[in-house]
Amino acid sequence: MSSKNISNIYDLAYTYLGYSSLSRSPDIDKLIDESIKELDKIAQFNYIYQDFDYYLDFIKNNQVYLDFLNGSTHYYLVLMTLGKRVDDRVKYYSITDMKKMVVFDAVCGAYLEELSDNFENENFDELRTYRFCPGYQGTKTADLQDIFKILKPERIGVNILESNLMVPLKTMCGIIGFGKKMKKSCGKCDIKDKCEFRKRGMTCY
Ligand code: SF4
Repeated sequence: MSSKNISNIYDLAYTYLGYSSLSRSPDIDKLIDESIKELDKIAQFNYIYQDFDYYLDFIKNNQVYLDFLNGSTHYYLVLMTLGKRVDDRVKYYSITDMKKMVVFDAVCGAYLEELSDNFENENFDELRTYRFCPGYQGTKTADLQDIFKILKPERIGVNILESNLMVPLKTMCGIIGFGKKMKKSCGKCDIKDKCEFRKRGMTCY
């Protein structure tokens, strides 16, 4: 896998922490740096994906997915995870060091995004959309259950609870459309009017 862009991880971790680019601190920088180094040692990045050229039922029955995929020639269901050891470390910090836990947790999210972007860039050379995860734009997280039945990510140690929570928690699961380019935007986001990121002049992506 190609090298990570550390600056992307910093930027996104600060975003998840709710800091604007002007309010960074050496103290948080140090915790982010330590977290990245720790993740380099313990993360077990893994993935699973499958290509489709027809609409699965949960897509066919929801106009939001249909609009998202409109113009795509095919799509992938994808799942990427940092593995169980990362969850264990978050739990450990939640008991031993709350401040570290909050920063570590944010870095985990940013680290997963960065590795997932790298994975896509190395494996897919077609035009493509961003990763649309069930739960965006008013879609139901219950759709993850449909995706799990197909991808069977238990094979790589990822399970889903009845509550639709994926375990390990540091897991991303969604849809990528191919044959057109589409970047994430706030346009159709269902929490646009009350979004805390936007209130601070930021976005979540
Ligand atoms: S920044 Fe806020 S409104 Fe925009 S996509 Fe992210 S969560 Fe939605």
